[in-house]
Amino acid sequence: MDWPDKIKIAQRNWIGRSEGAEVNFLIDCKPSDSLKFTPELAEKIKAGAKTNTIRLGAKNLAAGDVAELMSRDGNVVESFGYAKITNVQKMPLKKVPNNMPGHESYHDSGEKLADFRKFYGNDVTLDSIVTIYDFEYISPITVFTTRPDTIFGATYLVLAPEHPLARMLANDDTQAAVNAYIDEAVKKTEIDRTNDTKEKTGVFTGGYAINPANGEKMPIWVADYVLGGYGTGAVMGVPAHDERDFAFAEKFELPVVEVIERPEDDTSAEQCYHGEGILVNSGAFDGTRSEDAREQIVAWLEQEGVGCAKTTYKMRDWLISRQRYWGAPIPIVHCPIDGAVAVPEHDLPVLLPDVDDFAPRGDGKSVLAAQEDWVHTTCPKCGGSAMREADTMDGYACSSWYLLRYTDPHDDQCAWGTKQVNYWAPVDMYVGGDHATAHLLYVRFWTHVFRDLGLTEFAEPVKRLVYHGLIQAEDGRKMSKSLGNVVDPLDVIDQGYGADALRTFELFLGPITENSSWSSRGIAGVYRFLNRLWTLVQEYDESDKSAQVNVKKLDSLTHATIKKVTDDIYRLSFNTAIAALMEYVNDLYKLKTEGFSPAWRSALETLVQLVQPFAPHMAAELWKQLGHDSQLDFVDWPDFDDAKIMQDTMTIVVQVNGKVRAKLQVATSAGEDKIKQLALSDESVKRYVVGEPKKVIYVKNKLVSVVI
Ligand SMILES: [Zn+2]
Repeated sequence: MDWPDKIKIAQRNWIGRSEGAEVNFLIDCKPSDSLKFTPELAEKIKAGAKTNTIRLGAKNLAAGDVAELMSRDGNVVESFGYAKITNVQKMPLKKVPNNMPGHESYHDSGEKLADFRKFYGNDVTLDSIVTIYDFEYISPITVFTTRPDTIFGATYLVLAPEHPLARMLANDDTQAAVNAYIDEAVKKTEIDRTNDTKEKTGVFTGGYAINPANGEKMPIWVADYVLGGYGTGAVMGVPAHDERDFAFAEKFELPVVEVIERPEDDTSAEQCYHGEGILVNSGAFDGTRSEDAREQIVAWLEQEGVGCAKTTYKMRDWLISRQRYWGAPIPIVHCPIDGAVAVPEHDLPVLLPDVDDFAPRGDGKSVLAAQEDWVHTTCPKCGGSAMREADTMDGYACSSWYLLRYTDPHDDQCAWGTKQVNYWAPVDMYVGGDHATAHLLYVRFWTHVFRDLGLTEFAEPVKRLVYHGLIQAEDGRKMSKSLGNVVDPLDVIDQGYGADALRTFELFLGPITENSSWSSRGIAGVYRFLNRLWTLVQEYDESDKSAQVNVKKLDSLTHATIKKVTDDIYRLSFNTAIAALMEYVNDLYKLKTEGFSPAWRSALETLVQLVQPFAPHMAAELWKQLGHDSQLDFVDWPDFDDAKIMQDTMTIVVQVNGKVRAKLQVATSAGEDKIKQLALSDESVKRYVVGEPKKVIYVKNKLVSVVI
């Protein structure tokens, strides 16, 4: 994909692609053998099923405790999360109520006893004491990190206020503070929360996690700088190697453990080092380079079953519905029975109805909602009466695929035929200067999906993107109405410069991919150039064309200019093409001093053809004046003949310590550096020059003198 790097980088940042690892942190909790379940029940608990558990004997957990949940399948025992114990009751088995959640099969004491004897043996009686635990399920805390190489330096965890565990991990001592903090935090805007200039806030939940790398206890905090909508809503704090984590740790006096040695040649003034280096305090990984450790540590975590490599994206949903008339109707029908039903393919496309009044009515509803005849329809599924979706799609929806329709514009069965689209598309070159991370990214998303659906063979819709610069105001700032520095093209045209001069000047301002500033002096210069060109043709037209002119010289100039302008246009280097035409006109003015001859006709015709892409109106006029009835737009672009381009050369004598050692033929346009370089690299000169010469003197257009 031949796209400018700055666009590719902007798009990559926009989707927020980052590579790293997902790591599960265990919660530090009371050891207990009381919470083992069958794999089936474990799945139900994970899915949110309410249950309690009845265990024989007086067990050790109390309300408020957090304990590990295990699933047991034969001899295989696995952790699947945590239980926050919400209520504990101890009682004789005969007092256990019937029909408790998860124990619906107990109808009487006999069934209870039979069940307990199945698990605990025949010693169980109806007077045996059992413990009933009510609990809430807590999933393990998953963290995404781009720096798994720093995991040994993770000294605390931070949960977003929205994280489901944030409140659950609190204990009697911390619950009030945690609740108050979360209630406040969720009211703040995202921008406020992630503003790095503001002091960090947070609250300790009272709970601890275990760092899976080194088994250390880590306090679990809630802080609003972690957002619930991104990633897992939990981050590991590595204060030694992250600025933000450091600020947080410093404020709340959390431990800072360095795990990557700052290289000796590192001169950055930052308090924490976030570059690459050698691992320290990292157990078996001490001495490993951080770049290598990333992969090795992820592999190790994977082996331990507590982590895996992961690529994440910071993408959020795109709301495409709009309430205006102009837009593609969303092909959905709302049925009171079937809900939202897609319009079947054979009824597509859904066309906009003809309406008299397009104006929004200010009631927040779509303009189409008022089109009773159009809105009321039948459900494609049940045939009952239903309503069409009255919102229309965002313009970016259509601009994400319109270019593919060009390949098959008359097809009334589908948007395009695959044969046609694969023949014409992808687009060879796209010139644009806006929407770097909107339209230009969405069109790529959509085409990837089309490819996955088999609708195109290509995933990238545009092979080459030329992202043109902006024309800024004369003061170098962006043109804007509020700054009052906007140059209105119509004003420029009306000032007498005309459309041709305006257009030629815009293209002459600088390389197409760079921003350039408007210049009122500059347009006057371009206007003068076009005037000179015009005058030249007039003078030729009025002359008697009887002069003897150097045809070879004239041809050489003409063909060299065709070559240069053609090549420049292919490269979209319009400013240099126009500069070449200016030079051509200057050279023609010099030749003109000898007078005009019939040979001039082809030179001037070529000039008119070459200037036509930039100044089409004037070119059409001159083309006619030169005696043509044809429309210039349809005349073949001129060819050049390399053989007709004369290379102007001169002879340069090369001396070494005063003796002539070579004579060089070089282009008259060659500069001093080039000529010196040619002289020193000449074989017969090199024979006499060993090592660095003391002096190399150039006498313009004549001599290079080397002193050794
Ligand atoms: Zn229906």
